Amino acid sequence: MNRFAYARPASIPEAAALLARPGAKAIAGGTNLVDLMKEGAESPGLIVDLNRLPLREIRERDGGGLSLGALVTNADTAYDSRVEARFPLLAHAILAGASAQLRNAATNGGNLNQRTRCVYFYDVATPCNKRAPGSGCGAIGGVNRSHAILGVSDQCIATHPSDMCVALAALEAEVRVHGPAGERFIPFADYHRLPGDDPATDNSLRPGEIVTAIDIAPFDCGDHWTYLKLRDRLSYAFALVSVAVALKMEGGEVRKARIALGGVAHKPWRLPEAEALIEGGAPDEAAFRAAADRLLHGAEGSGGHAFKIELARRAIVRALRQAVAGTPQTLADKRIA
Ligand code: SF4
Repeated sequence: MNRFAYARPASIPEAAALLARPGAKAIAGGTNLVDLMKEGAESPGLIVDLNRLPLREIRERDGGGLSLGALVTNADTAYDSRVEARFPLLAHAILAGASAQLRNAATNGGNLNQRTRCVYFYDVATPCNKRAPGSGCGAIGGVNRSHAILGVSDQCIATHPSDMCVALAALEAEVRVHGPAGERFIPFADYHRLPGDDPATDNSLRPGEIVTAIDIAPFDCGDHWTYLKLRDRLSYAFALVSVAVALKMEGGEVRKARIALGGVAHKPWRLPEAEALIEGGAPDEAAFRAAADRLLHGAEGSGGHAFKIELARRAIVRALRQAVAGTPQTLADKRIA
């Protein structure tokens, strides 16, 4: 058994000070960290329980935006009437993830900071540069059906497992964090990082920083959005490929496009230059295919995950077609639109 200390701070500065200590880990819903500790993949010396912090609200922001408290559960976020009405893409992406029980416990901050589900990361008998830097990567040349095709390095090909984060990337959210130097805001595109030569580091949080909220500005896309998630079974499975699309349409043309991919990289994958290929023109298949090709430029796959390149290409085109038609993927009855 690994012994650890436990603290339940009552204020954000107190939590930040505790988390700045070496070996400290934050816990909220516990839906990922507890699994990792049981497997021996994480052995924190100090667990900082965030559940007393005042971060359980969804607050209004100027102009109709929302600020999602870090301790609001994924379920309460998805079923909040304001989220459903203003950001249905986000509500549906959340409901595409995990199971009802997990969404009732998992928090928004935890969703951002959950770790990869690469099987080698959880299996301490195998090499893994993310868990044990310098030990190697079992997935390269191993079982890698669920692994990344974009932004990979020769040290790690893991994916970020979240659905919620794919929608947040498309919506250009901002992550509000608090740490020893006070509060700062991180654009969503900069929050998660690619593995490079430091696969052990998942995000841009500094020591002692905690996520306090996720801010979303209004994005009026009407019915022109979709979250398309392709996976091995229709529920309780991580994405092989997912696509979040939000389009602002006017006069039969695409005025603004946001596209983000999940299941394909160490972070939600978004390229504004791909979106520009369909902005300012009529929505047509040629433009959709050009955007898909641009998003997937440089994609690499070998063995078990090479199929994901073509799967992603087709998924992007289909998601764009659905968003234009105003036929979002329904999760209420598990039908494929
Ligand atoms: Fe570890 Fe990353 Fe390789 Fe998986 S892909 S075994 S997480 S280094």
